[in-house]
Amino acid sequence: MNPLLIQKLNLNLWDLKNKKQLEFSENHFNSFVRNKVKLNFKKTKCPCGSKKKPVLVKKVFDLSYYQCICKTIFLNPTISENNLDEIYKNNGIYEKHRRQILYEKKARVLRNLINKRKASQIHNLLKKQNLKILDFGCGDGDFLNHLNKKIKREQLYGFDVNTSLKRQPKKIKIISETNELIDQKFNVVTLWGVLEHVSDPKKLINFVSKIITKNGFLVLEIPSSESLLSKYTFQSKNIPIRWLEPYRHLFFFSLACIKKMFKKKFKIKYIETNGLDLQTIFDNEKSHNELKIINVQNKLNDNLLGDHYRIFLKKL
Ligand SMILES: [Zn+2]
Repeated sequence: MNPLLIQKLNLNLWDLKNKKQLEFSENHFNSFVRNKVKLNFKKTKCPCGSKKKPVLVKKVFDLSYYQCICKTIFLNPTISENNLDEIYKNNGIYEKHRRQILYEKKARVLRNLINKRKASQIHNLLKKQNLKILDFGCGDGDFLNHLNKKIKREQLYGFDVNTSLKRQPKKIKIISETNELIDQKFNVVTLWGVLEHVSDPKKLINFVSKIITKNGFLVLEIPSSESLLSKYTFQSKNIPIRWLEPYRHLFFFSLACIKKMFKKKFKIKYIETNGLDLQTIFDNEKSHNELKIINVQNKLNDNLLGDHYRIFLKKL
């Protein structure tokens, strides 16, 4: 079964976000985080392991972004693990921020479409029944809810550090301590937009690879440093907040980096990009050329130049 056979979506970003609200929420979030984390940055390296000196490509606020020879772009110094915990866990500032942006009626419709397609792709991966599936970084459990509708006999698990915000059917088991995962094995683990948020992606990959069965799948979605939107962001003064996500997106990955990180443990089976590059570049403005832009975006995605990679890896 090939998850790439599930038809792509024509998403319209202009239906997704209220720009004013996004800016308000972003400023609020950034000033909160800046105050919290400014004393606790730490030096970091590209997860590809290269010893070559990375090059400074952008400065935004007090954040410096460097590019490795493997093309991955990363925040350096980066936010320490303790501070990340604080952002995502204790006070729920991140969730509050997300809610303001993502839970508008229009945005909900679009998010439903996106999650429905993800669920179909995961369904297409499954050859047997009664499998165990884990969504690592499940947030409010939206994706799991969609998967629950699509498949009947699988056991569904969600992991997230902040579990007080869940709304999910009883059938889905939610876990908030990594200790509870260590002794388990899953046939499929999904990391939707997780790897770019952690200060040590390699550490997370090592952990996840231990809890996936042989021939099981790891599915991840990450921002791409090789996309059109990446070039627009890091080669100009523009700050497209929906994608750059200051203080939250710590890594923008290249395929070479992904290959190195997963080498020996996984084999890449499928890759696609799902981007909103052009719509982001045109900055949410109502455009007379919406259809044209969406069509050109499809061409970008056909050439793996969209702003997010979706990668399906098989455990060796
Ligand atoms: Zn690198």
